[in-house]
Amino acid sequence: MTPKIAIVGRPNVGKSTLFNRLTGTRAALVSDLPGLTRDRKEGEADLGGHMLNIVDTAGLEEATEGSIPDRMRRQTEAAIETADLVLFVIDARDGVTATDETFARTVRASGRPVVLVANKCEGRRADEGFYEAFRLGLGEPVAISAEHGLGLIDLERDALAALGLEPKPHHRDDKDGDGAEKERPLRVAIVGRPNAGKSTLVNALVGEDRMITGPEPGLTRDTVSSDITWSGRAIRLFDTAGLRRKAKVTDLAEKLSTSDTVRAIRFAEVVVLLIDAERGIEHQDLTIADLATEEGRAFVIAVNKWDVVEDKQQILKGLTSKVADGLSQVPGVAVVPISAMSEKGLDKLLKAIVRAAEIWNRRVPTHELNRWLGEALARHAPPAPSGRRLKIRYVTQPSTRPPTFVAFCSRPEAVPKTYLKYLTNSLRTAFGLPGVPIRFNLRKGD
Ligand code: GDP
Ligand code: GDP
Repeated sequence: MTPKIAIVGRPNVGKSTLFNRLTGTRAALVSDLPGLTRDRKEGEADLGGHMLNIVDTAGLEEATEGSIPDRMRRQTEAAIETADLVLFVIDARDGVTATDETFARTVRASGRPVVLVANKCEGRRADEGFYEAFRLGLGEPVAISAEHGLGLIDLERDALAALGLEPKPHHRDDKDGDGAEKERPLRVAIVGRPNAGKSTLVNALVGEDRMITGPEPGLTRDTVSSDITWSGRAIRLFDTAGLRRKAKVTDLAEKLSTSDTVRAIRFAEVVVLLIDAERGIEHQDLTIADLATEEGRAFVIAVNKWDVVEDKQQILKGLTSKVADGLSQVPGVAVVPISAMSEKGLDKLLKAIVRAAEIWNRRVPTHELNRWLGEALARHAPPAPSGRRLKIRYVTQPSTRPPTFVAFCSRPEAVPKTYLKYLTNSLRTAFGLPGVPIRFNLRKGD
């Protein structure tokens, strides 16, 4: 029998969006469950090469907070009853609500395998809710954004593990891309001040094979994306320069067009900040870098117009130390000199992009993390505010993209920032995670 997965949760958390993501183009059929007037959607999803049945218990009616209409409750229970796996979805931006807790009790009581899914995690607003989700007692949440197609690889891995299935060999994942492609392209945004050379760089990378893909949902129509292949790897470049070429370069345009840049950054996995070597790193560049790290993106700095730089060594040294100071939250960001115009350094840049993406996706096994934690605590014992030594007992990595760690601690609020910084830096060094933002969070727990 084909295993069956039920997507469960209160209305509006994104169940249908997730259902559509997982079923892709395989048309969903709608069927009536006997005794229920509401429809539910059933479809097929390919998870790691396994075709599975998937049911969306679309909560089509409004539930007032705290009270769940009987019909919805019955429908959810019926779906759980026949499921081999429950995907329990919450909206991480809302945090855990009373209705979530009610649904969670039903799921727990059923004894079915469950994967807790924290949806709408594409921005920082979701952070708190993500951690609240731990207290539902349904295990570690998986952070995803059904709408933006993020985290679906993690979800697939956890769902397969819960079903006791292995991904089939040679299975290539395109869950985060647009189902038609064999390989999910790596999404790269090229951002920087006007005249840094963004369009020149994109043209140089794309070369003769420029293929402009259609507008991406959520991006403005003017933001162009171009697909290239490098070393057998599909890369999709997002170029916001098109917009600015149209705008007159006035003082206003010279000011960072925040919304375009933010949008491009959100869509990207790796952000390339392009700098004009003749101007060096300016305040605006650091603002863009801050945005990218706040959004948790992998990050590479390309220093353009290297052809006109005379004292190359001196300039590079200056830039590197400025980056180290200005971007101390992400030590080890690659700084790659290039000349977009004379097409120099492009290979090194692409290599740095792919490497940053790999680090961004890296998962450290829990036992290695805890071995590291033991050593780090031994090297520098945690402080003892008001005479009681802080205890940090356990660390785990709930998600990648960016690497996110949670440590459980007796009094998280009492841990000084400097000690947290020590732990983060030590972890970064121990597991070789340069140039990507790392989230290291403390939760209460012994
Ligand atoms: P359902 O009632 O649980 O099936 O929820 P829907 O799939 O209909 O989604 C409810 C709303 O949340 C819709 O407006 C979706 O566009 C939105 N939504 C779904 N997933 C995401 C997400 O990952 N991020 C954000 N920001 N919105 C989402
Ligand atoms: P954008 O506004 O960031 O898209 O910048 P453009 O690609 O339009 O480039 C701005 C100017 O810088 C143009 O005059 C380019 O010819 C010039 N430029 C771009 N790359 C290089 C480079 O590698 N070397 C030199 N010397 N000039 C460059």
